[in-house]
Amino acid sequence: MQNPNPHAVLLASPGMGHFIPALELGKHLATHHGFDVTIFVVAADASITESPLFKPPQTPNLLNLVLLPPVDVSALVNSTASVVTRLVIMMREALPLLQAAISSMKSRPTALIVDMFGTEALAIAEEFDMLKYVFITSTAWFLAVTVHFPYIDEEAEHKHRVMKRPLDVPGCRSIRHEDTLDLFFDQTDRNLFSGFARIGMEISNADGILVNTWQDLEPSTLRALENEKFLGRVVKASVYPVGPLVRPVGQSSKSEVMDWLDMQPMESVIYVSFGSGGTLSAKQTTELAWGLELSQRFVWVVRPPVDGDASANFFNVTNSHDGTPSYLPSGFFTRIRNKGMVVLMWASQTEILAHKSIGGFLSHCGWNSTLESMVNGVPMVVWPLYAEQQMNAAMLAEELKVAVRPKIQPNAGVIEREEIAGMVRRVMELKGNEMRDKVKELQRSAHQALMQGGSSYNSLERVSKDCELNVKSLQLPNCH
Ligand code: UDP
Repeated sequence: MQNPNPHAVLLASPGMGHFIPALELGKHLATHHGFDVTIFVVAADASITESPLFKPPQTPNLLNLVLLPPVDVSALVNSTASVVTRLVIMMREALPLLQAAISSMKSRPTALIVDMFGTEALAIAEEFDMLKYVFITSTAWFLAVTVHFPYIDEEAEHKHRVMKRPLDVPGCRSIRHEDTLDLFFDQTDRNLFSGFARIGMEISNADGILVNTWQDLEPSTLRALENEKFLGRVVKASVYPVGPLVRPVGQSSKSEVMDWLDMQPMESVIYVSFGSGGTLSAKQTTELAWGLELSQRFVWVVRPPVDGDASANFFNVTNSHDGTPSYLPSGFFTRIRNKGMVVLMWASQTEILAHKSIGGFLSHCGWNSTLESMVNGVPMVVWPLYAEQQMNAAMLAEELKVAVRPKIQPNAGVIEREEIAGMVRRVMELKGNEMRDKVKELQRSAHQALMQGGSSYNSLERVSKDCELNVKSLQLPNCH
């Protein structure tokens, strides 16, 4: 008998920051909303399959994880191309593989869900009569600027990019130039502009847009996205806030770091990490080391520094690294022995953030890290590096008031040790309590959104209903 469940195919673009939310969305669909799920993963190489995250999780319905054969794009992009350009090209090269994989499935899947780098694949969904969804693994505010982007005329672009005036986004908070997207700083690469405009159009024309946010976090932006007076004019798709979908704490969380955290006082440790790709210069790495040494207890995930490329580690993450970190000040390990832990390359972030000894998070503001901080009620020191991270930082520090922010842009110069120590102190001690109360409120509202009957749960129920209707309409001969 034919399986009556709707079948969602998800396509995750390269990078842990894209794979992790796709996996969490897949788990929610398969666990709570009656879907069978297949997640196709695009990656630069097969190393992701060695990650413990790549094990198919236990869910009541089918959940398959499939790595598409890695594509080599080295001949197609030059070595200085931005992460975005490389991602788009990798996704483009993977399209025939996705097409072949879907066409070889025994029964036709109901829906294709892509992230923002996979929107070209929505044409494949059309070919197979599948519903088309985009999953935005960032804020509704970022979605708003993306769908508005194709309609920014030359004059508005000039005012923002060159004259550094705020960018107006209909019905939403405007974006100050210092908080704007990377691509407005790049004066040369027009391909980035046209590529981003194409993505904005493709997102608007999907059947639905899922966003990893929740109703009470961004109510006015979500309203603007639906309101015909504002962005609702251009966004044909329904917008579904479905978050915060973050990786839950794992079963076995024993490690040297966790043992060390067990011995520290409640909310006394700041966790420092720049996500899967964030990279500091050599000078900034040294200054951060000194800043942390001047501060209080810390856990720091350290990567080799690279000058002049804030996302240098994006395609270069491994789980272990045996070399001695010569890029830290000499004697650092000895001096911090009783107050800090250094983890090389990669840490179990969700486990660390959920630990009761963690009282703050110094973060590059990748949206997954930000959500993980919020769901654990941890206030932040924001240190944005690339992509839309400046927008996230502005929202956290100025709108939600759950974070402190450096005086200068991390990419515009070196943040000095005294300022680092001062920010850590503010989040952990002086202003910390006020921010802590605010972030604990967000933690509660996030939890409610995901509970059965909560706003995000209901959003996924609506998606599920639409897909069930589509399954029924496909109960035609020769479809299966
Ligand atoms: N992450 C982790 N350990 C690390 C660094 C990152 O588990 O040492 C996880 C983190 O918990 C988050 C994801 O990788 O889920 C990074 O996503 P984010 O959106 O924060 O940043 P990106 O890496 O995409 O810049």
